[in-house]
Amino acid sequence: MNFNDTPEESAFRAEIRAFIEAEAPKNTPRNAEGFAGGSTTRDWFKKLAARRWIAPAWPVEYGGAGMSVMQQFIYNSELAEARVPRPGGIATGFAGPTLIVHGTEEQKQKYLPEILEGEVSWCQGYSEPGAGSDLAALQTRAIRDGDDFVVNGQKIWTSGGHRAKWMILLARTDPDAPKHRGITYFIVDMKSPGLTVRPLINAAYTHEFNEVFFEDVRVPAANIIGEENRGWYLAQTTLSFERSNIGSAVGARQNVEDLIKFARDHRADGQSTIDHLSGVKTELVDRYVEAGVATLMSYKIVSIQAKEGIAPGHEASVAKLYGTELNQRINRTGMRMLGLYGQLSGENAPMHGRIRYGYLRSTANTIEGGTSEIQRNIIATRGLGLPRA
Ligand SMILES: Cc1cc2nc3c(=O)[nH]c(=O)nc-3n(C[C@H](O)[C@H](O)[C@H](O)COP(=O)(O)OP(=O)(O)OC[C@H]3O[C@@H](n4cnc5c(N)ncnc54)[C@H](O)[C@@H]3O)c2cc1C
Repeated sequence: MNFNDTPEESAFRAEIRAFIEAEAPKNTPRNAEGFAGGSTTRDWFKKLAARRWIAPAWPVEYGGAGMSVMQQFIYNSELAEARVPRPGGIATGFAGPTLIVHGTEEQKQKYLPEILEGEVSWCQGYSEPGAGSDLAALQTRAIRDGDDFVVNGQKIWTSGGHRAKWMILLARTDPDAPKHRGITYFIVDMKSPGLTVRPLINAAYTHEFNEVFFEDVRVPAANIIGEENRGWYLAQTTLSFERSNIGSAVGARQNVEDLIKFARDHRADGQSTIDHLSGVKTELVDRYVEAGVATLMSYKIVSIQAKEGIAPGHEASVAKLYGTELNQRINRTGMRMLGLYGQLSGENAPMHGRIRYGYLRSTANTIEGGTSEIQRNIIATRGLGLPRA
């Protein structure tokens, strides 16, 4: 296997590196709560928008850069290597692609341009208290009333719901149909009367997700994407996104490198971390090897996608499962090394408090986007041909 770039890929990588070098915010403080938001990030996204790099996978006719899977891989790796904020999320990853494939021309004109400016955020109203892994069990009801639907019910774990302008909502429009067939896909204005967003504070003490309540919320029928009762199938829409998880593999390697540097440089009472913590050297070596494995998995997936032209199936689940569980192991090793310093956050804390935050936040990584158990089920049945339990 040849891991080297082709001449074209190498030129593309150089173009992105030069752009980052010239335009990206310098020393973006990757603080405990992730990237610093605010005007620095907004200015950076404006520059990306001018290059059509907010949604680089989208087709050119819809304002994307039409990047190939391998170009996206290079783009994602270079932004991750430079530790600069990366655009993404529900708007570019889910709402936009669904509109591109299933939306009317009017809907595309209305919603896509503002997504590409990189300033408007969307949220995803899928999960409910009784419907997560078994999403098709969702109960939020939408009942037709003239030109509108009236929505009642509750969503939960709605990331960014407190900042979003729009929500993509899955609601049940035909309770008598088999559960996958009575669901419709709506766009909902988050300022609609009757819609309430209540914060949920996560284990890392940050406000990331929310509960969203619908009490007689009127949603115009014109806000349905695709056909009524066909929402389940739309929810599976993705464009040709690379699914290698390279950003998180790069992040894992960088965190391990930071910990190795800390172990080399840090001394307490005249002793290095390695001297006074038994087994930490071995742990660091294990994490270093595992971060390398995660990177190789990303290469494997992107080569399946790019060379064979097929979307990875269980391989993407392997990378998600391994990468998120590795993230937890790295942060556990880090917390052991940092001892009491591991409780500090802020610019003066070791590694700007990233390990502290990562230790608390990485639990969620193995739940969001499909839990580890669900990934194992997918790998067992679709990858290994084992029978369903
Ligand atoms: C940080 C974060 C952000 C999120 N953001 C959003 C968002 O923006 N929008 C949104 O709609 N949702 C969001 N979610 C919700 C997420 O999609 C669900 O939490 C996830 O799908 C699991 O559903 P659940 O929490 O209802 O758990 P459940 O499905 O009830 O699962 C509970 C436990 O049972 C296990 N389990 C369930 N079914 C099986 C099975 N068949 N075999 C083996 N084990 C099983 C699970 O693995 C888990 O351990 C977010 C979650 C997190 C953690």
